[in-house]
Amino acid sequence: MECYFGAKAALATMHGKERALARPFRALLGLELELPAHLDTDQLGSFDGRVPRTGSPEQACRRKAQLGMESLNLPLGLASEGSFGPHPQLPFLAAGLELMVFLDRERGLEIWERRIARHTNFDHRCVAEPAELESWPQRVGFPAHGLIVRPEQPWPDAQELLFKDLADQQRLAETIVAAAAGSSNGRALVETDMRAHRNPTRMACLRTLATGLAKRISTPCKACGVPGWGKVEVVYGLPCSWCGRPTSLVRSERFGCISCSHSEERPRLDGWAEADPQHCPLCNP
Ligand SMILES: [Zn+2]
Ligand SMILES: [Zn+2]
Repeated sequence: MECYFGAKAALATMHGKERALARPFRALLGLELELPAHLDTDQLGSFDGRVPRTGSPEQACRRKAQLGMESLNLPLGLASEGSFGPHPQLPFLAAGLELMVFLDRERGLEIWERRIARHTNFDHRCVAEPAELESWPQRVGFPAHGLIVRPEQPWPDAQELLFKDLADQQRLAETIVAAAAGSSNGRALVETDMRAHRNPTRMACLRTLATGLAKRISTPCKACGVPGWGKVEVVYGLPCSWCGRPTSLVRSERFGCISCSHSEERPRLDGWAEADPQHCPLCNP
C-alpha cells in the first residue's frame, strides 16, 4: 500500500505508546507518527478511575484518534484503547481487550484491529499493612510493572490521595501505610497500573496489535482496492468426524473488506477439516 508512504499520522497518547507503534507503521507503510504536544487523553476516561469512561471502548478510541487529528490538523490519526476485567469465557481469569483504530479522513476510512490479551497482570489487593501482600507485588511484575495505591474507602479529606510511579518496595510500603490511614476501613487498595508506559506486558501486546493493524492497512481489497482487508470473524461449527454435525470448534476464518461487500472464507490454518468426536455434543455428550 503505497498511498501512505511518507505521510504523517497523529497518535493520541500520553502514555508512551509510540514505543510500540512507531516501528511497525514505518516499516510496513512508510507512515510517520506525530504526537500532539498538549493532549489530555485522560479526559476520555483514565485507568486510575478518576475520570470514568463514558460510552463504549470503540467510541472512546475513535474520539481519542479524532482529538489527535484536530490537535495536529492532520487527516490521518491513530489511537488505542484497553479494557481489563475478567476473561469473557473464563470469568476467574483476568484478560484485556485491546483496540486500535486508524482513521483516514480524506478517504473516509476507519480501520480496526482487536486483540484479546490473555496474558495480563491485571489484578488488585486490599490490605491493612504492606506485609499482607506477601509475594503478590513480584507476581504482578513490580517494580518493572507499576502499581497504584489509594485508600479503599477514603475519608472526605483523602479523596484525592493516590500514589503511582512507585520506585521500589520501600516506597510501596510507605504509600500503603499512608493510604490505609486515609481510609475509613483502614485498608489500602493496591492495583496494577495498566497505563502502557508502566506496564511492559501491555506494551508488548500493543506492539503485536500495531503490527496487525499496519498489515491490515497495507492489504488492499482485491475487489475494490480500498486498504484494510483482513480477518473479520471466525466461523464456528467444525464438523464432527463421526457424525458430521457441527461442533463448537472453529471451522474457518472470514476475511473481508471495510468498504465493499467482498469477503472470503478460509479454512483453518492448521488444516483441520474435521473435529475429534470428543468435541461433539451428540457423540460425546
Ligand atoms: Zn458427532
Ligand atoms: Zn472492497
